[in-house]
Amino acid sequence: MRTLKHKARQPCPAGKRSLAWLLAVLLLALPLYAEPAAKTDQRTRVKPGWNMFSEQQDIELGRKAAQDAEKQLPALKDKAVNDYLNRLGARLVRHTPGHRYPYQFKAVNQEAINAFALPGGFLYLNRGTIEAAENEAQLAGVMAHEIAHVALRHGTNQLTKATFAQAPLAILGGMFGGGGGIVGQLAQLGIGVGFTAVFLKYSRSAETQADVLGAQILYDAGYDPREMAAFFETLAAQNKQRSIEFFSSHPHPENRQERIMEEVRRLGGPRANARKDSEEFHLIQERVRSLPPPLKPGQKRRDSGRETTGEIKRPALPSDRLVRYRERDFLIYYPENWDIYERGAGVTLAPPEGIYSTRQGDSVGYGVMINIVELDDPRALLDESTDWLLEQLQESNPGMREVSRRRIRVAGQRALQTKLVGDSPLPGEREIDWLYTLQRGDDLIYLIFIVPESDQRRYRPTFQEMLESFRLR
Ligand SMILES: [Zn+2]
Repeated sequence: MRTLKHKARQPCPAGKRSLAWLLAVLLLALPLYAEPAAKTDQRTRVKPGWNMFSEQQDIELGRKAAQDAEKQLPALKDKAVNDYLNRLGARLVRHTPGHRYPYQFKAVNQEAINAFALPGGFLYLNRGTIEAAENEAQLAGVMAHEIAHVALRHGTNQLTKATFAQAPLAILGGMFGGGGGIVGQLAQLGIGVGFTAVFLKYSRSAETQADVLGAQILYDAGYDPREMAAFFETLAAQNKQRSIEFFSSHPHPENRQERIMEEVRRLGGPRANARKDSEEFHLIQERVRSLPPPLKPGQKRRDSGRETTGEIKRPALPSDRLVRYRERDFLIYYPENWDIYERGAGVTLAPPEGIYSTRQGDSVGYGVMINIVELDDPRALLDESTDWLLEQLQESNPGMREVSRRRIRVAGQRALQTKLVGDSPLPGEREIDWLYTLQRGDDLIYLIFIVPESDQRRYRPTFQEMLESFRLR
């Protein structure tokens, strides 16, 4: 820490048009919705559209596309995150109608809010989606929507339509029923089924189907399906400011939220004990937020200029004996084997070996920085002034990211605890920063507790004692 897109359907060859066309019109005009079931459960029966492929071919085609996808996408290689996604996914899949596909869920190290599903159950979620969800039910909502695309076979339904436009006779002649790989047979017709192919953009009616079935899956799995509508609503609002990638592959149907809410009513309203959130979701979300951002193609890991250029030494553990530091505005107790470094209105309390020289100057690797800054706008809310402070801190610590924030009390006052991660001056290490902010009049008072990630457990008790001893005068 330092101080301050989509191919137009090709027309059929003229002579062969009539029969093929008639068949296409008949098949594509299959109803979206059938009659509702029983009286108590009036759920919409959503049916898959016309499909020339078998379920087994869905898996074969999806696996090929997944291999392509994984060559192109940066995986978020974090076992805890991927395990969590697969547990949550399995809970939803258990309540999904249709063929039992070998579903698998993987996180992608991309900030854009997006998710996609390939035929046969290969699902990908960008980290941005996990970071943007407000609760577990919202994340489950996006996943249920993607699972519904798989269950309704929207990918191969689109591929059927595209193939039919290109080679109607091959289909009518039953070319795809025989042996040999489906991927090769399609390739012979010049139809690619890779990652950039037809699977990645759905029609608005397919979107509505996925929303409806997704809401049912959520409901049956015990989640509050209204959270899916809430998440899409938040995204749609944000889409006005910056385009949300999710909507380029999943076009936003009109009255999306209303249709989901209608389905919730058909299901008999949300369950009284519907699951909305979990502690685990928030732990995973924090973990995702703390993972290093993706590298751009050809980019090397950024040199923050913060790595120590001197000897790499770790300080002795903080002494149990605390001594008092007193200043005009506050007092705090600190370990007696630490030193005091005063600068302006601020002070740094740190072990002497915990300060490292870097190309950017001295950098605190272990210790506590306390400072008081004057606010431009004393009526600013604590959240706003904390955001402002973070922007200032990020200027000299560009790799720093906020992981979580919560309200607590410090020195008997309302305060915010903000957990940050950044680059430590210790080579190859990440730094954890616990930032505490409180306001008094025109002043913003802040304390930052700094430690490399590998030592955070050893320093937490000392940090906690110091924070509890902090008093304003
Ligand atoms: Zn969709």
